[in-house]
Amino acid sequence: MGAPDVTPKTLDGHGFLDVVSRAEFSALLASFAPLAAEDVPLELAHGRVLARALAAPEDLPATARACMDGYALAARDVFGASETNPAYVDCVADLRIDWHEGQCAEPADAPRLGPGQAARIPTGGSLPRGADAVVMVEHTGELGAGSIEVRRTVAPGENVMLPGEDVRQGESALPAGRTLRAQDIGLLAALGVTSVRVGIMPRIAILSTGDELAPASATPRPGQIRDVNSHALACMAAEAGAEPRTLGIIPDDLPRLTAAVAEALAGCDALFVSGGSSLGARDHTVSAILAQPGAAILAHGVAMSPGKPTILATVGGKAILGLPGQVTSAQVVMAVLLKPFLRHLAGDAAALTAGPPVFVAELSRNIAGRPGREDFVRVRLEQRDGLPPLAHPVLGKSGLLKTLLAADGLIAVPAASEGLYKGALAPVWPL
Ligand code: AMP
Ligand code: MG
Repeated sequence: MGAPDVTPKTLDGHGFLDVVSRAEFSALLASFAPLAAEDVPLELAHGRVLARALAAPEDLPATARACMDGYALAARDVFGASETNPAYVDCVADLRIDWHEGQCAEPADAPRLGPGQAARIPTGGSLPRGADAVVMVEHTGELGAGSIEVRRTVAPGENVMLPGEDVRQGESALPAGRTLRAQDIGLLAALGVTSVRVGIMPRIAILSTGDELAPASATPRPGQIRDVNSHALACMAAEAGAEPRTLGIIPDDLPRLTAAVAEALAGCDALFVSGGSSLGARDHTVSAILAQPGAAILAHGVAMSPGKPTILATVGGKAILGLPGQVTSAQVVMAVLLKPFLRHLAGDAAALTAGPPVFVAELSRNIAGRPGREDFVRVRLEQRDGLPPLAHPVLGKSGLLKTLLAADGLIAVPAASEGLYKGALAPVWPL
């Protein structure tokens, strides 16, 4: 990973966060180079990002194949055939009975069809030489002694998959940067590709910092709360295809946080620190980052709510993210900025520019925003038949987990707008 080409900032001289827009923050994230690639077996390739375009090693299909059960023949032999004026051909082979141990007879083994000849063929069977079309069995009749009546005209190529019609040998079957879906895995299997080169899954270290935090397994002492973020952020990182590792809780203590950051950085591709990202007396994340040799703060503050006190820094080309400790803020930053960043690190070049993995919902009521910052509103989606889902803003105290539990996604009120009206269609970031 190369360090982004931006002027390092320190907080000297800044009374408050040095806020950038979400687009600027995303552009800074995009300046981190994707990780290297590795070869994985097909069984492990689902959801991974293809590191280079895959050229088809062979034609697919390899031979002309029937799309229907019927008769393979030369289209010109039944040209103009109809119910009232059928054509007649001789069936000289039944390729259905030549399936042996799951294999259809090779076209080379089937007889070459002469003029007026046809062969009975199953769906998926390879066309015999001399045939260029398949007439569906429903449009034929057996007259006995191999004579077949054809009651429908067919065009050359009709009901036939041509060799290379899915993809031609040497052509790009899948582009670089594509996140492999089940359908892609199916294509790779059809092509006999059993190993693929994909972006390495980013190893993400996660630290939580706060004197008040106790592990989930502990009974909190008075004034303590259990650490939510380590767990929730790790899940969200895994959802984005990363390999998260939670490294526990660090108190609000600069030397200890500095040491924890140094140790965490050594074993990860990117570090997420939740808590202590603002400018209070107990907020040490920026200082702990700046204490690392060669550290640069690229941004401190994003013009979004929740999520404003977010830090982006780099040390030795690795990204360090300081997330606000407030649970909702941390999850919104993760959903909107950092899950795309993890996809980007894994090689998905469009992840940071594409915006939300779009679907739109219709607002059930007006929602207010504040000019100058982008407001992310939690919404519950009501599915409707044949209409975009209806988005109901989830109201409630922001510190409660229950608003996140009730929400299916987030809708952004743009920074330049004072709000969105009931009935407006808006893109949704899924939660
Ligand atoms: P901070 O960003 O450190 O100022 O924390 C903001 C709020 O989020 C405080 O109320 C913290 O107690 C809370 N908080 C910080 N870290 C976590 C965490 N890992 N899990 C749950 N709540 C947290
Ligand atoms: Mg704190």
